[in-house]
Amino acid sequence: MDRKRIYLSSPTMHGEEQKYVQEAFDTNWVAPLGPNVNAFEKEVAAYTDCGYAAALSSGTAAIHMALKMLGVGQGDKVFVSDLTFSASCNPIMYENGDPVFIDAEPDTWNMSPAALRRAFEKYPHPRAVICVHLYGTPAKLDEIMAICEEHQTPLVEDAAESLSSTYRGRHTGTFGKYGIYSFNGNKIITTSGGGMFVSAEEDAAKKVTFYATQSRDPARHYQHSEIGYNYRMSNVTAGIGRGQLLHLEEHKARKKEIYRQYKEAFEDIPEIHMNPLNPDGDANCWLSCMVIEEGCGVTPDLVMDALEGINAESRPIWKPMHLQPVFAGYDFMAHNADGSSVGEDIFNRGLCLPSDVKNTAEDMDEIIRTVKKCFRG
Ligand SMILES: *Cc1c(COP(=O)(O)O)cnc(C)c1O
Repeated sequence: MDRKRIYLSSPTMHGEEQKYVQEAFDTNWVAPLGPNVNAFEKEVAAYTDCGYAAALSSGTAAIHMALKMLGVGQGDKVFVSDLTFSASCNPIMYENGDPVFIDAEPDTWNMSPAALRRAFEKYPHPRAVICVHLYGTPAKLDEIMAICEEHQTPLVEDAAESLSSTYRGRHTGTFGKYGIYSFNGNKIITTSGGGMFVSAEEDAAKKVTFYATQSRDPARHYQHSEIGYNYRMSNVTAGIGRGQLLHLEEHKARKKEIYRQYKEAFEDIPEIHMNPLNPDGDANCWLSCMVIEEGCGVTPDLVMDALEGINAESRPIWKPMHLQPVFAGYDFMAHNADGSSVGEDIFNRGLCLPSDVKNTAEDMDEIIRTVKKCFRG
């Protein structure tokens, strides 16, 4: 008999999603606008207390719109977290900007304030800073915001992975000038694909909605004074999002429990360290990750192969952006004074563990047993 697949993080539907989707069909709002889109924006804004939101076709589109709002153009420097998914920085390239990759620090695996300071010394006038909350763990926002303010540089929070995570009681995504969320299939809640731009400024959300609907000037005829984008969220997928949002806190609680179980189970294996959480925050634990102690002979590949053996999905840590062939030639600011990269070290020694909301107690036991076996033979 084939073993059931255990997923890294797959969509978890509850039923209400279909009700909202049905409503869209029943009212013929099968379009990139409509009542679900408007309601989903309001509901996410209310949940995160972000102010205003613009529902878009992806988190990547939301980052692109944030950079567009900040006027990023040819040759503008944009500081961005190095240890992340490429979608965090691809939009810089869409606007012909120059990314400067900022290393991770070891305490939260997020943007290093020390490396950020060094970046400002070398390039005093970047257009923006894009800070990621990796795997759902809030970055050191106090330090990062202070540095950004000191240099009067706007902060964009890539909270694609951290919807529902808080820092000092406030939702990630609501600290910077602009924030973005993603509802891709593997995120903590999903619309199959989608994203959101958020801001405390109503005008910003309105302008992004304008850009995202082809920048049509308010005229009867089709007139355009600015370049437009087809980035609006569909009213059908917004319906999925409304249903999912009702279960976000439940998903978060489940993911936190998965992290806790791994942490507790691996306490007696000194070669395993779980990804650190920020003590000033409450992480959604989107993905539970581990790093393996240097020189113990066990590699991430070995653990991932063992998990594949029980049909469980795992994944390497994101490969840092400064090591990506496509970004060769762009500058990188290391956390360590000797120039060595914290992110590269985490990438070399780490992996993401199955963190699916639907993992059963038996699944968790089996994953944990399999990982432990790699270390104890
Ligand atoms: C998923 C993700 C994105 C992109 O979101 P999409 O909705 O897939 O476009 C951006 N940044 C990070 C860190 C992500 O994990």
